[in-house]
Amino acid sequence: MKVEILNPKAYCAGVSNAISLALKVRKDNPHREVYVLGMLVHNNFVVKSLEKQGIKSVNKIEDIPDGQIVIFSAHGHKRELDAIAKEKNLTIYDSICPKVLHNITLIEENLEKGHQIIYIGQAGHPEAEACLSLSKKVILYDKNVLKNYQLINDESPLVINQTTLNILDIKNDHEDILKVFPKARIADEICGSTRLRQKAIVDSSTDVDLIIVVGDQKSSNSKRLLEIARSTHPHVSSIMISDARELDVSLLINKNHIVISSGASTPNEIIDEVYNRIINY
Ligand code: SF4
Repeated sequence: MKVEILNPKAYCAGVSNAISLALKVRKDNPHREVYVLGMLVHNNFVVKSLEKQGIKSVNKIEDIPDGQIVIFSAHGHKRELDAIAKEKNLTIYDSICPKVLHNITLIEENLEKGHQIIYIGQAGHPEAEACLSLSKKVILYDKNVLKNYQLINDESPLVINQTTLNILDIKNDHEDILKVFPKARIADEICGSTRLRQKAIVDSSTDVDLIIVVGDQKSSNSKRLLEIARSTHPHVSSIMISDARELDVSLLINKNHIVISSGASTPNEIIDEVYNRIINY
């Protein structure tokens, strides 16, 4: 049986930087409480490991005691949270991924020039929420709600997207938008890490008979990997698991070529555990 781990495999640069920052903040502030608002990165193992080191995750900024430390997550945060953090006298550290920050800057520059923004992303995802919070002129694209287009009074809006979307689906979204706004300016901002991981699945050989995506259910980029696996290899079993214990080994029976893909926030050791469970089966 051939078992192949696709590359890229380890944390993306954004996840790696966010974890390093959180650990540095913890080390530099031994006598203060350190909180992350939301999940620093979308992987429960990472969050638990940070908690063991005294870096707590909370869902609401109100849950952080005044005067303590808040770390904003790699996905970005809603604009209004800055003012609340100041009111609470929190010390702010921002672990936003440079790629997300680049998109926010692009949106802000376009807003300053008077443009509207069509934002392609997942409602409720922190990165999308961060971008939508910049202005009411940033409109969430929903192909099923065409009336949203009535909110656009700009001949050449900027079209931009969440960094972890599906490289195949986004092409259709762009085509649909261009039919309504032929002068729209398309900024395809899927990040390199997401793009390469998805492409590795697209390019997987046709003799693959099981694709395993290792990633957290909350991880947008991991879920897109599963989508890509299912759409480009429709006759192959494709599953997503968060760790080796979730692997149903009965799926390995009669398999000759197994491919393991992984999300950008999946720890290396978890991927290795999945690999070892398969080869030792
Ligand atoms: S997946 Fe992309 S956007 Fe998200 S943290 Fe990694 S590099 Fe940044």
